[in-house]
Formats: sequence, structure tokens, C-alpha cells
Amino acid sequence: MAIERTFSIIKPDATRRNLTGKINALLEGAGLSIIAQKRIQMTRENAETFYAVHKERPFFGELVDFMISGTVVVQVLEGENAIAVNRDVMGATNPKDAAEGTIRKTFAESIEANSAHGSDSAENAAIEIAYFFAGSELVG
Ligand code: ATP
Ligand code: MG
Repeated sequence: MAIERTFSIIKPDATRRNLTGKINALLEGAGLSIIAQKRIQMTRENAETFYAVHKERPFFGELVDFMISGTVVVQVLEGENAIAVNRDVMGATNPKDAAEGTIRKTFAESIEANSAHGSDSAENAAIEIAYFFAGSELVG
């Protein structure tokens, strides 16, 4: 296994309920280090670009509206096997299917308002990190 970096978002449903610290505790408890973090308001263009892979899906418009409905916390996580570890601690997309103790099982409101995003591959992690962070903001 290798040390990896992955990109994470604490979504608006979670920031709205002041869950940033509790979600960070689960991430850190899973062995992930938060090596960069900032709270931002995404623009519509940011959200459309970020979720462009889903633009033909029926939920795309609502997903974009949700992602810009409040502030988000964007993060870079680092650790052994970080991409898969983060997906594991987030849990399944639909909180009804997520395992006990995961972020989505514990906190998500719905399949859309599901509290967290995590990159799904090393390639996408690199693209997503570069979109939201300058190299100078990453101090591992
Ligand atoms: P993410 O990419 O946010 O980490 P994911 O990889 O688990 O989530 P995707 O299939 O990439 O799931 O979907 C991206 C996001 O779109 C989901 O996290 C959720 O917010 C929203 N979404 C997915 N499926 C639906 C759906 N059927 N209805 C409404 N929103 C959905
Ligand atoms: Mg995804």
C-alpha cells in the first residue's frame, strides 16, 4: 500500500448543522490526515464543473442547487490507501445502504444531502485537488 492523497468535501447539509468537527473526527479516526482544508461557497460553475460526469442524470440540476445552497468545506486527506479508506468511512451513496458508523449512515439526510464527497480514483483525486487548491496550500 502507498501513501495517497484524496479530495473530500463536507457538503452543505453537514456544514449547516455544524457537523464539520464530528465528520473530521471520523476521518481522522480512520487514519486520514487533513493536510489542507478551507470553507468556501461554491459557484454554480464550480458545482457544474465538479459534477460534470453526472450532467445527463435526472438529478443533476437539483444536485448543483444543493451543492451551492450553503458553504462547503473542501479538504485534502492523506494516508495509507487514502482514496479507498475515505470511501469506506463515508459509506454508501444512499445513507439507507451505508454501514453502521460511517459518515453517511450517521449524518446524511438523504441520497442527495449525503454530507460528504470523496474522490473515486487516484486520477480524479489529482484533478479535484488541483481544481480547488494551489500547490502552496498543500503542506503534508
Ligand atoms: P460523491 O461523488 O459525492 O462522493 P458518490 O461517488 O457516492 O458521491 P455519485 O454516484 O458520484 O456518488 O453521485 C454524486 C452525488 O450525487 C451523490 O453523492 C449525491 O449527492 C448525488 N446523487 C447520487 N445519486 C442520486 C440520486 N439518485 N438522487 C439524488 N441525488 C443523487
Ligand atoms: Mg462520485
